Amino acid sequence: MADLETFRAEARAWLEANCPPSMRQGAVAVTEDDDGSIWGGRKAKWKNPEAKQWLDRMAGKGWTAPTWPKEYGGGGLSNAENRVLQQEMGRIKARTPLMSFGLWMLGPVLLEYANEEQKRKFLPPIVRGEIRWCQGYSEPGAGSDLAGLRTQAVDKGDHWLVNGQKIWTSYADQADWIFCLVRTDNSKKHEGISFLLFDMTTPGVEARPIKLISGQSPFCETFFSDVKVPKEQLVGKLNGGWDIAKRLLQYERQNISSGGFGGGGGGYDLEHAALDYVGKDDGRIADADLRARITTHKMEARAFAMTVRRAEEESKQGKGPSAATSIIKYAAAKINQERTELMVETLGAQALGWEGGQFKPNEIMAMRAMLRAKGNSIEGGTSEVNLNVVSKRVLGLMDHQ
Ligand SMILES: Cc1cc2nc3c(=O)[nH]c(=O)nc-3n(C[C@H](O)[C@H](O)[C@H](O)COP(=O)(O)OP(=O)(O)OC[C@H]3O[C@@H](n4cnc5c(N)ncnc54)[C@H](O)[C@@H]3O)c2cc1C
Repeated sequence: MADLETFRAEARAWLEANCPPSMRQGAVAVTEDDDGSIWGGRKAKWKNPEAKQWLDRMAGKGWTAPTWPKEYGGGGLSNAENRVLQQEMGRIKARTPLMSFGLWMLGPVLLEYANEEQKRKFLPPIVRGEIRWCQGYSEPGAGSDLAGLRTQAVDKGDHWLVNGQKIWTSYADQADWIFCLVRTDNSKKHEGISFLLFDMTTPGVEARPIKLISGQSPFCETFFSDVKVPKEQLVGKLNGGWDIAKRLLQYERQNISSGGFGGGGGGYDLEHAALDYVGKDDGRIADADLRARITTHKMEARAFAMTVRRAEEESKQGKGPSAATSIIKYAAAKINQERTELMVETLGAQALGWEGGQFKPNEIMAMRAMLRAKGNSIEGGTSEVNLNVVSKRVLGLMDHQ
């Protein structure tokens, strides 16, 4: 315990000295499509030089990946030390130094499944935010039934030749590399899939952005035509990619559940929004029905946050996330959708703005966040599919015949 308090004092002093002033207000809306989150990568624009400074300083300590081993660039912290670090960052409202599919999804499975050479090659650039990754899983015809994927990787002796199409590839147009599920054996479904890594600038790779109802284009259709991938970029066993794919999905669901869905209304709390927009009655939200629903929602959200915290503790003590992440992912989607819908309702006509000076940034964000949240029950596995996972793998129920 004394050690932890020493660590807390050191971390606090270091953060005080190294977190630039503009990085002490969490992520905030800079423009409609840019909330100031730091994603790094070769294409990063660094509109605010302090964002780059913050990333470099945190990465230098390995604190973008606090619990990863030091030998791969991580911070080598224990779970308890990491908790203290997160508390100290929260205390000064430090911005997350790096948002990254590499940190949340790929890195953890590389630590489990990759060979030593791959770990040394791919993990440190993830920690430093130099390489931004995207996830090549879904295909037209292979979403929930992911193992039905058809993108082919053919063994050409010294390389793999990849042909096919992915869809809903988040930020494929911004990413530098892709972790991609490919078919390497057509005679078997699940046992014919491999896990391949390749550079998005390889000839034959094309990412076409898809425009969404929210007005943003966070994902792409991604096409592969005769893409040559070096043999050593296959992770794990040939035709053994399905196990890695499932493991990565558990990390994805765990991350989505612990806050990966983002804000709804520019960090504006529902309760304060209601007091401002609906008005006060004796210090309380004036509309009794809305007040009751906001209260119920806040109680659920609080209980959910505590459950997530407990599940995280359990998964850190055990062997990482389990199928139970599906329960949390399901609940996270429901709660985020409820919250963003309640925010729109609370703001009333002021939430109908799409752009323009007559609406405040939080009003425009509220509608966009509500529309974006519709995807929460689809991304990372749909709610129906997660309920199937819970019934089969958590509750052990039989398939319906
Ligand atoms: C915001 C967002 C970001 C995404 N980012 C990525 C990404 O970066 N990379 C990537 O590869 N993919 C990504 N996806 C795709 C996502 O993983 C798929 O959309 C998802 O797996 C569902 O697949 P589908 O769209 O093909 O729907 P389908 O599988 O066709 O499902 C259609 C409907 O049928 C239901 N259904 C299907 N099978 C069953 C079943 N067995 N039992 C009960 N109901 C069933 C589903 O629940 C759904 O309601 C993203 C999606 C969203 C919304």
